[in-house]
Amino acid sequence: MKIVLHKGSQEIGGTCIQLTTGKTSILLDVGLPLRAESRAVEVAQLAVDAALISHCHQDHYGLMTRLPQQTPIYIGKLGKSFIDAAKTFLGEEIREREYRHFQAWQPFAIGDFTITPYLVDHSAADAYAFLIEADGKRIFYSGDLRSHGRKGKLFETLVKRPIRDLDLLFLEGTMLHRSNDQFPDEKSVEDKIFETIRQQKNISFLLSSSQNIDRVVSAYRACKRAGKILVIDIYTAWVLEQLRQVTENTPAMDWPEIRVFATHSPDERLKANPDYFGDFRKRLYRHRVKREELHANPEVFLYFGKMSSFPFIETFKNAAAPVNVIYSQWLGYLDGSHAIYYGSDRIAAYRSDPAVNFVYAHTSGHATVKDLQKLAEALDPRMLVPIHTEHGEEYSQIFANVVMLNDGGVHVLTQSGGLMSEVVGAENSCERHIIERGQLLINWRSKQQIMKELAEKWIYIRVGGDKYRPVSIHFDNPCGSLNRLNGKEGEIGCTKSLDTAFENAIAAAPANTKKPRNKKPEHVVQAGLIQYALLHDMQLNGFPDFFDELIFVTDELKAGDIRADIIALGGKGGKYFPVFIELKGIRSFKRVLEQLRAAQQEAAKVRCSFVEMLVKGTGKTVETISFDEYKLLVVWPGAPSGEGNASILNAVAEEGFESAKGHLLLGEYPPMPKDNWDARKVFNSAVRFVESA
Ligand SMILES: [Zn+2]
Ligand SMILES: [Zn+2]
Repeated sequence: MKIVLHKGSQEIGGTCIQLTTGKTSILLDVGLPLRAESRAVEVAQLAVDAALISHCHQDHYGLMTRLPQQTPIYIGKLGKSFIDAAKTFLGEEIREREYRHFQAWQPFAIGDFTITPYLVDHSAADAYAFLIEADGKRIFYSGDLRSHGRKGKLFETLVKRPIRDLDLLFLEGTMLHRSNDQFPDEKSVEDKIFETIRQQKNISFLLSSSQNIDRVVSAYRACKRAGKILVIDIYTAWVLEQLRQVTENTPAMDWPEIRVFATHSPDERLKANPDYFGDFRKRLYRHRVKREELHANPEVFLYFGKMSSFPFIETFKNAAAPVNVIYSQWLGYLDGSHAIYYGSDRIAAYRSDPAVNFVYAHTSGHATVKDLQKLAEALDPRMLVPIHTEHGEEYSQIFANVVMLNDGGVHVLTQSGGLMSEVVGAENSCERHIIERGQLLINWRSKQQIMKELAEKWIYIRVGGDKYRPVSIHFDNPCGSLNRLNGKEGEIGCTKSLDTAFENAIAAAPANTKKPRNKKPEHVVQAGLIQYALLHDMQLNGFPDFFDELIFVTDELKAGDIRADIIALGGKGGKYFPVFIELKGIRSFKRVLEQLRAAQQEAAKVRCSFVEMLVKGTGKTVETISFDEYKLLVVWPGAPSGEGNASILNAVAEEGFESAKGHLLLGEYPPMPKDNWDARKVFNSAVRFVESA
């Protein structure tokens, strides 16, 4: 599965993640950036099959209408009606397009993806996290969530009955560097509102978002306790009307302690859209409160407004008692850098206005760091990726298994469970090679019976690049090329099709294109080992001190600095690790060591895809394989005189290589016996030599 985090690794807002399998591509959220300097993702350019919206906050759905008209959008039904409400009252057109609604906890499919929406507690109603499954992988996207709102139970459930076996968790981190201590939950906000309005001599204005339903409920409950009337505007009344789709238990305009203050502009919207609003306007007028009533007894009312309410607030300023302004949203909006919120400068100035009693009462829509830790621990993902945060670089001090993704980078969630940069450039060609080798090995492994029959004829299908090639493993022509039997068509080359490779192999004679110098001792040992493996269920057993089993994976791996004559998978006590087998001729041992060191470093960079290749080549599970415990096994021929071994061992000891990470098993094979040759026996005796050395 391919993952692109288009936006969200460095900022709060503008969230947009793309997930792609072989057939399907989806977007998780299409958010508008909150910061002026942040550029919106060009969502129209992304070829996707669908977009999935977590909740009705602009920083998650704001770019929705920029998606191509035919792209379906999956969104909660209530959330969608909130978005429509906002648009309608802003006088924006609601374009017809395909929206599909889902139900909480009901899985649904988009192409290759299975999505399960989890209803979460957030400052927006109808907010979801998503479990996304495809390609045998499980990803959880937190969306925006918290534990301390009026739906906090949902968070508790996620912690108590966590989703298991997650490969990756995208976790929001809005609250890093922010505190929620002053008002830890909605109840404390309600209490502060209650205290403020209880003995008020003038009206109170509560400035918040109408879509923050928890806050509307807090305002309502505070009013009820203090014997006050909650005044809402037409837009808020319509938002509350939408909630009737899901519950009768949230305050609405027809409740006795609630009145609607109707102003001209939204009323014009009602008149202009009679089909959309139905009889809402008619019903609304039964619950109106007039301007004169508010001014006659201002101390009776709490007005649920927004920052743009400042001109109305002004009209209540008087000498007898200050007007109460309860600021009930994030204080950051007042720092002067959020000019898009009309009136924010005026509200900010109220903090030092003697005619205003400025009160702050707000709890965050986002989980505290402590809660996020609880959630992360419960979900226990193999990888945790920071999102919706300004402090992603600090995640690794707070959470386990953190992997940072940068905006725009293309990553691949590998079969082995790792995340790696998508391999496109030449500098990554070695990783591409390993991945492609893994793909070919899947087919190759499934044809072991044919391989065995060919091995009896001294023929082997070599896997390399993106091709298959029949080669000879006869000791007279070890690892050499083959001719077709009729000899006319020359050497058998590579083919992309394994079936064609089989056809050619079956039509080949063994050992028929012997080349001079092909019979180097190390080639003979290599060919012998390959044949032994093919004839014995891919097992190269016989080294009980080192391995319970040693499984042949592939030969002739040359990917950048990563080289091995044979790659095998060693097993000991149920754990597996890669084994790089080098069969050396007589040459500078120093050079061999340099080469192996470089290979170690390079291989570590691509460990995920390397392990993936081992999985594909052996059928063992990812969980049982540890790349870090890999072994390098070098075998070289002894000097014809039988001397010289000591000098090589000395060189090894001087290099201190035995103690280096990666382990080195050393041995040397005796001179090749002329007849009755058994590579495995030779190989085996070489390893025993090390044991005794
Ligand atoms: Zn949100
Ligand atoms: Zn958000």
